[in-house]
Amino acid sequence: MIDLHCHSNYSDGSLSPQELLNKAIANGVKVLAITDHDSVDGVTSLLDGIDHYSIKLIKGIEVSTRWKKHDIHVLGLNIDPFAAPLSELIEKQKNNRLQRALEIAEKMADLGVNHAFEKACKIAGHDNITRPHFAQVFIDEGKARDMPAAFKRFLGRGKPAYAFCPWVSIQEAIDAIHQAQGQAVLAHPLKYGLTRTKLHQLIADFQLAEGDGLEVVSGDMLTTEIQEMAGLCMRFQMLASSGSDYHSDGISRVSLGRQKQLPLNCTPVWQKWNIEQGTL
Ligand code: AMP
Ligand code: MN
Ligand code: MN
Ligand code: MN
Repeated sequence: MIDLHCHSNYSDGSLSPQELLNKAIANGVKVLAITDHDSVDGVTSLLDGIDHYSIKLIKGIEVSTRWKKHDIHVLGLNIDPFAAPLSELIEKQKNNRLQRALEIAEKMADLGVNHAFEKACKIAGHDNITRPHFAQVFIDEGKARDMPAAFKRFLGRGKPAYAFCPWVSIQEAIDAIHQAQGQAVLAHPLKYGLTRTKLHQLIADFQLAEGDGLEVVSGDMLTTEIQEMAGLCMRFQMLASSGSDYHSDGISRVSLGRQKQLPLNCTPVWQKWNIEQGTL
């Protein structure tokens, strides 16, 4: 079993990296990539002593990018997390994320939620604040029933607590991932609410920027959707990835490593990685 997409509490997941690793082992995962939003701090915190585990840990990241007004996520897999160009990109994203968080907090004050930034930091345990942390503030204040409701009402694009964030371009993300010797994978292609025409345009642009792969299986998908993504993957001659996008038991419908199988006609992104035969 392999899972190349999940989040620790260094971004918007609820488990610590160590807890995530333990859960993956308990779930029978043999290869795990931790891919926090614009951060490698969670995965690097595990590197000391990782060789004593039976599981193979892949160093990863999920980079937020901007493409035609859409937030598009690019996974960097099997990266050198300390590569200088990647560190520079992370620093830039962090600053932009912080500025956006302060802007969101201002908008939340207008909506009657005071000290939202401080509250979000308290929930997160750090200041790399994501929208789910603000969603939790809305829930705690009794203004939203759950995460989807908080996004639908307040935090989604164009909603009253939404703030634009000047994320890096897809090209910048792919370049930094390549400079860190990793593979760049377009995350959850069906999660952006794009028409098929737009989605095909996105994949073509991604490929033009020398992106390596598509996340054919992501979290909870229908078999027909997986087949469609596998078809696109082959049409664009890209590598295929697979991950649960696990955040927490409460939020995620699919547990670590429990996403559906990658169709056999796809070429896996991990084919050239050093994974012992028979491990998966
Ligand atoms: P951010 O990177 O801070 O903009 O936050 C993006 C994260 O918000 C995603 O990775 C998801 O975990 C979460 N998210 C985005 N849209 C929704 C939604 N409609 N409902 C629940 N969570 C969402
Ligand atoms: Mn997330
Ligand atoms: Mn994502
Ligand atoms: Mn994710």
